[in-house]
Amino acid sequence: MRQKRAKSYKKQMNVYHYTFKFREPYQIVVDNEIVLTCSNASYDISKGLTRTIQAENKPMITQCCIQALYNSKNQDAINLAKTYERRKCNHREAIDPAECIKSIVDIKGENKHRYVVATQNLDLRRKLRQVPGVPLIYMNRSVMVMEPLSDASAKYSEEWETKKLTGGLNDLQAGKVVENEEGGDDGDNGGVNGEDGAPPARKKRKGPKGPNPLSIKKKKKADPVSNGGNEDSEKKNRRKRKHKKSEETRGGEGEEGETGGSKSDEDNKRQPTESSTTQSNADQEEVV
Ligand SMILES: [Zn+2]
Repeated sequence: MRQKRAKSYKKQMNVYHYTFKFREPYQIVVDNEIVLTCSNASYDISKGLTRTIQAENKPMITQCCIQALYNSKNQDAINLAKTYERRKCNHREAIDPAECIKSIVDIKGENKHRYVVATQNLDLRRKLRQVPGVPLIYMNRSVMVMEPLSDASAKYSEEWETKKLTGGLNDLQAGKVVENEEGGDDGDNGGVNGEDGAPPARKKRKGPKGPNPLSIKKKKKADPVSNGGNEDSEKKNRRKRKHKKSEETRGGEGEEGETGGSKSDEDNKRQPTESSTTQSNADQEEVV
């Protein structure tokens, strides 16, 4: 069960990495409530976070959240929070921690700074689900949990994938951007296109197929049409090879049969005695 969850979290973090361009060390904004919860449960929050997102990370806490912890007078929690990097939120007077976190994460509907948010505040999580690309972590009893990809994130991710795949067909610039991101070779493609006059979109799709196995998997799901074509060609190749092989083997067998037959016939006709002697010799050897 635990392994299954780790796998799905890893998969999710890959979406944040590739689609939303998150980079290690991931910045995790922790709120005062999760720090309190973990502190009270003697749960190692740093270990938990690393285990959950399975990558290098940097927990941080806003000025307003640490102020809320000071107000709680829970010294253990305060000491814990002090070890985290302080995120300046520029709220001169501390505001509601949830409001504070929302103000630094949701910038015009975008998670501009690419924060992971670890919060016990359900209302805040609900609000942040509306912003595409906000990984949300919370403590469910004694287990640290990452929320599944929000609808907003999933929608964004799907749109991004289709844009990446079909962009090249209608918009040459979109294709170029994809190429650059995937490390495609402009020069090579240009040359090939110029030579055989093949449609450029097709070439561009072929470009990123090789180096990144993760993107291939995604494309298989996202675009069965283009992939189906590849599979067909592969199948054709396989079939061709099979035919060739079978033809070869058949031909070989036929030749062998023919030559073998003729040889044995010749042997029998020319030197019947010799063959009989060799047979007898073989018999003798076997007996000895
Ligand atoms: Zn603040």
